[in-house]
Order: sequence, then C-alpha cells, then structure tokens
Amino acid sequence: MVNHLGAPPFTDMTIRRKFISVCILNYVEYGSVVQTLIDIQSELKSQYHQTEDVTNQLKILLNNFRNNFEIIENITSCCLNWPIIYAITPTYKRPVQKAELTRLSYAFRLVPNFHWIIVEDSEKPTKLVTNLLRTSMLNYTHLIAPTPASWKRKLREPKWKKPRGVSQRNTALKWLRLNRNKPTDRGVVYFADDDNTYSLQLFTEMRSIRKVGVWPVGLVGGLMVERPIISASSGKVIGWNSHWRPERKFPIDMAGFAINLQFLISKPQAEFSFNVERGFQETTLLSQLVGLEELEPRADNCTKVYVWHTRTEEPNLNDEKALKKLGQRSDENIEV
Ligand code: UDP
Ligand code: MN
Repeated sequence: MVNHLGAPPFTDMTIRRKFISVCILNYVEYGSVVQTLIDIQSELKSQYHQTEDVTNQLKILLNNFRNNFEIIENITSCCLNWPIIYAITPTYKRPVQKAELTRLSYAFRLVPNFHWIIVEDSEKPTKLVTNLLRTSMLNYTHLIAPTPASWKRKLREPKWKKPRGVSQRNTALKWLRLNRNKPTDRGVVYFADDDNTYSLQLFTEMRSIRKVGVWPVGLVGGLMVERPIISASSGKVIGWNSHWRPERKFPIDMAGFAINLQFLISKPQAEFSFNVERGFQETTLLSQLVGLEELEPRADNCTKVYVWHTRTEEPNLNDEKALKKLGQRSDENIEV
C-alpha cells in the first residue's frame, strides 16, 4: 500500500497485519478503528524517528483513513445488516439544551446503524431542535410530547418531586410500535437522556440483545457505580449493589438497560407511568417485560462502565436576569 505522497506507510509486518485485521474485522465501531489508527500512527512515528516531514505525511494519511473508514464502515454495516439502535431522547428547553444536544449528536455520529428518536417536551417542534437535527447527519425522528401541566415541575420545586421524560418516552414507544412493527425490523431500543455521557463501546454491547440487556451505570444512585451482580456459575443477574430503594424489583437507572425491538413489539402494553412512586419508572417498564433470570448481562459481565449519569450544572445567569429587567438580552438574534 502506498499513500498518495508515495511513501510506503507499512513496512513493518506487525503493523501491516494489525491494520489489515482492523479492515477485515470491521465488526468494531468506527471510534475504535480511529483509535487503532492513532496507535499505529504513534508506532510509525517512533519508527521513522519522528521527523517532521513524516509526521506531517502521517497526519494526512490518518485523515484519509478517517474519511475512508467512515465510508467502508457505512457500507459494511449496511451489508452486515446490523440491528439498528433506536436511541430515545426526551429533551426540553433550557439554557444548556443546545450544548447538550450538540455533544450528544457528535457521539451518536460515530455509531453505525443508528436512529435518534428525539422527543421534545413542548407543544410544537422548536426551531433549535429542528435545525440541530437537520444538520446532525444522523438518521432521526423528531417527535413532540408535552408533559401534562399537572406533572410539570413548578418553579423552584425540587427536580425529584415529579417524574421526568414519561410522556416523551411513551410517545417514542408508540412511534416504534406503529412504524417499526414488521418482522424484518431488527433493532435495539435504548433510553438515552440528553445529559448523560455515552461511550461508543456501550452501543457495541447492546446490539446483540435478544430481550433486555443490562450493565453498570457510573455516578448514579448516590454511588460511584450502580451495577447488577452476576453469578459466576450461571452468568445470570442474581442481584444488585444499589443502595437507594434497593427493594425495587429492578433497582437500575434508565441508562442501564436496552430492549430488543421485536421483543418490545411483542409486548404492546408495556410503557412508563406517572402514577408510580419516585424512582420506579425503570421497574414499572421492566416488570412488564421480563423476569430477573431473563436479563442479559453486558459490558464484560457487568464489570465495565460505559455510561455515566452525568448532570450538567445550571449556568449562572444572574446578569442576564438583570439585563432582562432593563428589557435587554445578550442573546438577541443569536442562538445559544
Ligand atoms: N426532561 C424533559 N422534560 C422535563 C425534564 C426533563 O423532557 O421537564 C428530559 C431531559 O431532557 C432528560 C430526561 O427527561 O433527557 C431526564 O431528565 P433529567 O436528566 O433532568 O433527569 P435525571 O437526571 O434526574 O434522571
Ligand atoms: Mn439526567
């Protein structure tokens, strides 16, 4: 293989082999391919005594590989007919909304065979979300589902008083049942809140789920990590390490499980509900789907963390409030 500048990039056989195996075994996500290329780049750098010329050539090479791999990866994932990952994201208007959705969309761009179902907690689609989706380069469905007034959080009411995302997630489930109910529709459904942090490996893990897959979630439930406990002999979930309301049947966060699409379609009644105790949304849905023994542990038998229940700090907008009193604003004619 010769790059367009004429330099033979892979004189070393081990590097060549590594590269080819990455090409052939394209059953890895695009992100890991790029990481491997970056590793190869640094190996090559040391081989070529790190001369600036070579480093520049390698940069160009790496960029070419990035572009080529995106194409190869798209083609192979279509050919392999991977199940589509349907990520359901409730979202609502607030100062950090565009920042959250921008961050999320860039992570999702790196996931092959991906479909983003974004459900706005609003009476009509907003310009901000509409434009963000249009330019996202993602497959997406844009829905709206306003939370009923009686379930809306009042000003200064603590966050935990009311359940969040119920109407939005149920609306997305309804959409899937109406639009992805053919026997040929293969997929995995995941509830991806707009403020969490997702590793690409998470999506690789969930793609093979037959009913419901589970894994650890970082920074949630008052712990560094909440996770299912797996029996060494049976490989099944036998309990949980949760401290908060551990008596729940499924003491797990929304980010800690995903559901096979066809399996979900086979349970047409399963949905979330406003009329359940705080913290029981996950248990409500999962109890309608599976028993404990049916759960499929992922992430190396639930020993790895690939998703974090991060929360974004509310920005200090004291001066913005002062401006508003004077009838002014800093974001006049500029979307933030
Ligand atoms: N959400 C919403 N409407 C609201 C509050 C939250 O659609 O009034 C969405 C939010 O954007 C997120 C999900 O519901 O995707 C969960 O909300 P949040 O992250 O605030 O909850 P927590 O982190 O406490 O689980
Ligand atoms: Mn959250």
